Amino acid sequence: MAQSITMPKLGLTMTEGTISKWNKAEGDAVAVGEVLFVVSTDKLTYEYQSEVSGVLLKIEVPENCSIAVGGEVALVGEAGEVVSSRSAPPRASDGREAPVAPAAVSSAASSAGKKKVVIIGGGPGGYVCAIRLAQLGADVTLVERERVGGTCLNVGCIPTKALVKSAELYGEMKHGADFGVLCSGLRVDWAAVQNRKNAVVEQLVDGVSGLLTANKVAVVSGEAHFLSSSAVEVSGRTIQADAFVIAAGSAPVIPAIPGIESEGIVTSTEALSFAKLPEKLLIVGGGVIGMEFACLYATLGVDVTVVEMMPAILPPADEEMGVIVRKRMEALGVKIHTSCKVTGFDSISSGVMTHVLDSLGRELQFSSDKVLLSIGRRADTAALNLDAAGVKAERGRIVVNKRMETSVRNIYAIGDCCSPIMLAHVASAEGEVAAENIMGAARDMDYKTVPSCVYTLPEMAWVGMTEKAAVETGRKIKVGRFPLIGNGKSLIMNETDGMVKIVADEKYGEILGVHIVGPHATDLIVEGALALRLEATADEIISTVHAHPTVGEALTEAALDLQSRAIHLPPQV
Ligand SMILES: Cc1cc2nc3c(=O)[nH]c(=O)nc-3n(C[C@H](O)[C@H](O)[C@H](O)COP(=O)(O)OP(=O)(O)OC[C@H]3O[C@@H](n4cnc5c(N)ncnc54)[C@H](O)[C@@H]3O)c2cc1C
Repeated sequence: MAQSITMPKLGLTMTEGTISKWNKAEGDAVAVGEVLFVVSTDKLTYEYQSEVSGVLLKIEVPENCSIAVGGEVALVGEAGEVVSSRSAPPRASDGREAPVAPAAVSSAASSAGKKKVVIIGGGPGGYVCAIRLAQLGADVTLVERERVGGTCLNVGCIPTKALVKSAELYGEMKHGADFGVLCSGLRVDWAAVQNRKNAVVEQLVDGVSGLLTANKVAVVSGEAHFLSSSAVEVSGRTIQADAFVIAAGSAPVIPAIPGIESEGIVTSTEALSFAKLPEKLLIVGGGVIGMEFACLYATLGVDVTVVEMMPAILPPADEEMGVIVRKRMEALGVKIHTSCKVTGFDSISSGVMTHVLDSLGRELQFSSDKVLLSIGRRADTAALNLDAAGVKAERGRIVVNKRMETSVRNIYAIGDCCSPIMLAHVASAEGEVAAENIMGAARDMDYKTVPSCVYTLPEMAWVGMTEKAAVETGRKIKVGRFPLIGNGKSLIMNETDGMVKIVADEKYGEILGVHIVGPHATDLIVEGALALRLEATADEIISTVHAHPTVGEALTEAALDLQSRAIHLPPQV
């Protein structure tokens, strides 16, 4: 008689599991110890080894479908045996009843030939999506009107960080004597800084082009617009496809302020490539991009002023951590005016005069040779003719669900043109979700573990809830802190202005948020992201031995501080 294979219980809290892969098909022989299928939960992946032998008579739970622990997954018996299923039907991973036929991600082409997918935009959303689709067997065309790599590689993440690196090196060399390293004639060769930045960009753009070619993605140059829900036009050529992914990205917001067209007012794109270093730079907007530019130019010796409308710079960051960065920026010479509104600009012989109203209603004026507008970015969808396809957008931003599906079947959107978080790694993650869903999976985009990084000096990074947000949920929380003055590696690096702060649930110690200001904060934050993904507790961070001397030890200490037992802090009285 056929034997029932059921969903195993693989952990204390496991209530259901998803079959992420079948290693056998119905009719295949099964031997004891052979891996029959792979189970995934939000915490683990497990290869289920058969405890019986025979023939796999019936698969009850197709790939990417879930079933409760103890539910019947399959039946194994003798060849030719007639069987019927016994347990509740499985669910697709979005909660819907599972499709009759397995709807797994498949690397094989469908019987009707390869699925043809057109991607509009070759930024970190579009190119990652293209490669994933190609891996899964799709026939992929990527349309790009400028250069692959998009904003991120060409005028965003990469060139800014290349400039930050030059600034950091210059700043460190200025303090070389503190380390016993003497240097005379130190100066910035701005043209060489620009050349290096451009070389880094070129190398990465070439690398992405090479990867697309290697994955047999057809890259079409030109601007795409929809003709219908199944066709786009690029430079007079009509391209039809089974599915589309819109990855058109974003553009800077240009506010309607009197005098905005004055010469010398630029966006981040131009601020990456000034012909010469400005003497005075005024930055409108103290968000992430504004503060990165403020830091890098101030480090290079530019007189920088930041005007921010909100009461604090870096508004989404944990307040306490934002204050540390603000103090460091001010120590660097950056003048920060918060709760201030720009009311107008005038052209003057030395550049631009910026008129500002402060929170007390006083009028302030700042002259500078350049003004950088950095007040946010907007979805860049105007050229797409979304109406022809019937794709719904709200003020230009495409409306999507968690699967990255738009309002139109088979049209997906990813990245800055639709996402609640405008970051390159988010665009890429959404690209992978869209690609897999197009090829038959049922994946949701999960933003829980998205880290935010600010490449100021010192760096700042966080993941999960700020202290304020955690308190607002109404749960009882506790906070662990460890200042980097107590961390050996930070002292070695002469970078002790910083802190690790962990926000945790009071009852269970579950990590809710991790916040870091200090050297390599943007690299270290991945530990916090993983902690959130694994629903780790303070104990699990503490019992994970961190190497010495590293800045990462401060994470253990902050976790210990949650239990009032940090080793390298004086006892609390
Ligand atoms: C100065 C700056 C610094 C940044 N730093 C960081 C950082 O450190 N880390 C981080 O995560 N994020 C950073 N970002 C944000 C990051 O660049 C974006 O979130 C990311 O590039 C979004 O990726 P995307 O694929 O959605 O769009 P994009 O990268 O904007 O790519 C969209 C592409 O689509 C093309 N396109 C648009 N419309 C069409 C059309 N109709 N036809 C054909 N092609 C079209 C565009 O030419 C573009 O190449 C920064 C942004 C800026 C401006």
